[in-house]
Amino acid sequence: MIFLALHDLIIVGGGPAGLAAAVYARKRLLDTLVLTMDIGGQILQTEKIDNYPGYLEKSGMGLVAAFEVQAKEYGAEFVIAEVTRIEKGEGNFKIHSSAGDFESKAVIVTGGRQPRRLCVPGEDRFLGRGVSLSLKCDAGKVRGKAVAVVGGGNTALQRAEFLSGSAAKVYLIHRRDSFRGDELTLMRLRSIPNVEFLLNTVITEMKGGSALESVVVKNTATGQVMEMRVDEVFLDIGRDVKLDYVKHLVATDPSGKIITDKFGRTSCEGLFAAGDITDTPYAQVIIAAGQGAAAALTAYGYIKKRPGEISYSC
Ligand SMILES: Cc1cc2nc3c(=O)[nH]c(=O)nc-3n(C[C@H](O)[C@H](O)[C@H](O)COP(=O)(O)OP(=O)(O)OC[C@H]3O[C@@H](n4cnc5c(N)ncnc54)[C@H](O)[C@@H]3O)c2cc1C
Repeated sequence: MIFLALHDLIIVGGGPAGLAAAVYARKRLLDTLVLTMDIGGQILQTEKIDNYPGYLEKSGMGLVAAFEVQAKEYGAEFVIAEVTRIEKGEGNFKIHSSAGDFESKAVIVTGGRQPRRLCVPGEDRFLGRGVSLSLKCDAGKVRGKAVAVVGGGNTALQRAEFLSGSAAKVYLIHRRDSFRGDELTLMRLRSIPNVEFLLNTVITEMKGGSALESVVVKNTATGQVMEMRVDEVFLDIGRDVKLDYVKHLVATDPSGKIITDKFGRTSCEGLFAAGDITDTPYAQVIIAAGQGAAAALTAYGYIKKRPGEISYSC
């Protein structure tokens, strides 16, 4: 376990919002620590970014690598850890994480969105051993195997189409009676012989030994239950914000996102938020990065105005 001294600013999350905030905070010479489970966030899942102005390389990994280099060049410190709880004390914040406890004068929360889970027995046990939450998939790994794709949107449809080229069998499982994805992809999928649609169907259990071997599915229209042999399940059922570690401190909107103003302020003084975790209507890299920058500038102003605080300058 590590214990670090009082930081000016702790940023939770290392996606576009967190990395941009780190750059802006360091430009203002704030002593800045980024606590994050990964460096890159959702961009790590993205093959192609073709709408970030001025960035023509188009690789998601390339863009995030550039963000990271810049934040580190300016002196931001990074610890790879999961933040489990943020507490507000007399004047400072205490941040509990899987790497120990940390303290700071201000906090910017940029936890983004995480893949939604089914929450059925066996799911946790086979995560990474037959259950995949990642958007990337290696066609070679499923060659000749039976796989299931869960979801009704374009991500699920496109994944099923992609996998049908190498897997022996692809089950496309969706809890509703029709798909949300686009008609053109759906039309192509309907003509692929090794793709089978299971509508009105939910997975109720995942089974296996050291790796996933089968799933139990239930048809919600007929009540019929059956067990199907599958080697891999891909979950494409959307993304959610997770606020367990901070929800006791901040006001949220009806969809559970942190309410912020245009300065990145939340309902908790000294705690700011940016990116997809906020009530912004647009989940985009450039928006998250812009919000991160704004939150860092506001945090700088907040820290500077604290009684007895020295004046930082660029
Ligand atoms: C498949 C896909 C394609 C996309 N394509 C595009 C596109 O082409 N163009 C575009 O502009 N946008 C695209 N987006 C959206 C874009 O990636 C997001 O809007 C952007 O990444 C949001 O940035 P963020 O920093 O708010 O959150 P995220 O990128 O979600 O980053 C959140 C960070 O917080 C960390 N974190 C979360 N909880 C904790 C915790 N408790 N403790 C520590 N760390 C934590 C995570 O590890 C991560 O580093 C795409 C998204 C996906 C999933």
